[in-house]
Amino acid sequence: MSETSGVMEHVTCLGCGCACDDIAVAVRDGYIVEARHACPLGAAWFGDGRVPAEARMDGAPCTMDAALDAAAATLTSARRALVYLALDISCETQRAAVAIADVLQGCVDGVSSSTVAGGILAAQRRGRVGATLGEIRNRADCIVFWGTDPATRYPRYTSRYAPDPAGLFVPNGRRGRVVVAVDIGASRGPADADTRLAIAADVELDVIAALRATLAGHSAAGGARDPRAAELARVLAAAHYAVIVYDAEPGAAQPASPLGRSEALTALGQQLNATIRAAITPLRGGGNRLGAEAVLAWQTGFPMTVDFSRGYPRYRPDDNAPDLVRSGAVDAVLVIGAAPAGDGALPAGDARRIVIGPRASSALPAPHIAIDTGVAGIHESGLAFRMDDIPLALRAPLPGPPVAADVVRSLGARVRAQRTAHA
Ligand code: SF4
Repeated sequence: MSETSGVMEHVTCLGCGCACDDIAVAVRDGYIVEARHACPLGAAWFGDGRVPAEARMDGAPCTMDAALDAAAATLTSARRALVYLALDISCETQRAAVAIADVLQGCVDGVSSSTVAGGILAAQRRGRVGATLGEIRNRADCIVFWGTDPATRYPRYTSRYAPDPAGLFVPNGRRGRVVVAVDIGASRGPADADTRLAIAADVELDVIAALRATLAGHSAAGGARDPRAAELARVLAAAHYAVIVYDAEPGAAQPASPLGRSEALTALGQQLNATIRAAITPLRGGGNRLGAEAVLAWQTGFPMTVDFSRGYPRYRPDDNAPDLVRSGAVDAVLVIGAAPAGDGALPAGDARRIVIGPRASSALPAPHIAIDTGVAGIHESGLAFRMDDIPLALRAPLPGPPVAADVVRSLGARVRAQRTAHA
């Protein structure tokens, strides 16, 4: 395709964690006119591809160099700086951002500490019982949707991964799989499930405990067997490859995942693996938030809430980014990426704020320094991670504003130069 018109195939959508990489993006006269195969959520994420391309200081337009010099001065003179990995940036950009936090001996965090910290800590304590989406598509013959229907927030999950498509070992697709909906309070599973169980929200963990006891051949706490646990145990025990799917990031409009769900389901999955193959798979949001966890883990050893104040990385899971801003523990904040709405949004606070990323110039609250960049996957290529931790290459169908990774590297060079000059 030319820079202004044509169709680019195999573009990856970061509208949700499914990261569908089969999107054909049609561009006419420099605008996106169609994102073929994308669901409505994905089409909205691509939009027409128009984003602002400005640099601003205290609300007034300025040059990129002036904004970068001022940003470096703000960060190097800060008592304690926070680097926040927001959304719609590539792993290359995240990596450059982590390097700045390291040089500044500041803190670095991403969206995950506000949304899935409980699950991350549970995985570190207990391990994971995971599977790739490809494995699920090709092998799973029993899918349990645990208090979630992917149709709203992950619209193509069911058609791309499970239960609808035919898989290598499930050639009849939906007809070859058993689908169970576990409704938890108001959070309902898919309407077309083969089996449906209802659980009050306040006894969810008790039912998981009863299910584990039933699978082990005991009644829970010595009492009568829970009929829901008995039914679910029967379905799971009959499967060859069972997958329990839950929404780890249900968003502000949905009931939050209870503390303990992730760990309890992991324990259940580990127990199931004694007799069948089982996986516990969280649904995750978009914008390459798993990329931030991966980059932080490979650069520092920890997937979130990292503190470099002693000159080496330390894990601080009790000090997430919103808390650091709210408490005044940091006096400068560098947000890299598109600020999330709802969970993971940073409170206003008193710290001086620099935002580098897509639509930075219209971010709220208004940053002291803003530099617009392109959106990873629309204007920028690079690497991003799907909800099952699979890395995918991004193809950029449009040229756009400055590339985020280049801008952040340029800021990093200025920060290093200023630190050296003041040493
Ligand atoms: S399901 Fe998610 S990743 Fe796929 S097209 Fe829709 S929003 Fe994009």
